[in-house]
Amino acid sequence: MQGIGKILIDEQTLMERISEMGEEISKDYQDKDLVVIGILKGAVMFLADLVKHIKLPLTMDFMAVSSYGRSTHSSGVVRILKDLDEDIEGKDVLIVEDIVDTGLTLNYLADNLLSRNPKSLKICCCLDKPSKRRVPVKVDYVGFTIPDKFVVGYGLDYAEKYRNLSYICVLDDDNIE
Ligand code: 5GP
Repeated sequence: MQGIGKILIDEQTLMERISEMGEEISKDYQDKDLVVIGILKGAVMFLADLVKHIKLPLTMDFMAVSSYGRSTHSSGVVRILKDLDEDIEGKDVLIVEDIVDTGLTLNYLADNLLSRNPKSLKICCCLDKPSKRRVPVKVDYVGFTIPDKFVVGYGLDYAEKYRNLSYICVLDDDNIE
């Protein structure tokens, strides 16, 4: 696909960093009851690559929350579209998310999951855009810190497109309706 925008993080750089993150998580969760919770749909690619590098007997579950739809700005309203299949009480939960921007989504998710009494709760994000934070969020594992640009690819969409790119790029203004 051409003309989408400048590549910000290429595939090789993504894979190298994700492998490091998997190693770190593997060390931190030795002898724990790890449940990895992927946030649909954006985190699917990241989660699939990350868990291959976590050398532990983990389980996976998924949640879907409302996204920006066709807008490139956060509405600030978070809705659960699909909840977890399993109970997380007493488990060591790791939320795996594509990107943290204003922090509203993860702040809501962390509060929501903490109310279910997990043994521990940590957050792992592929990308962090700290410049637009509106609420504080403690992200325990960050893949890459990026500038305040709207990015697509590697799971991230614009109007549901571009998720299948194997790299992350900045969406050109020409492509934004
Ligand atoms: P937050 O609630 O932190 O503002 O935003 C989190 C969600 O907004 C992410 O899970 C993602 O779906 C979406 N988002 C934030 N920034 C971007 C971006 O640059 N590109 C895309 N495609 N989605 C984004």
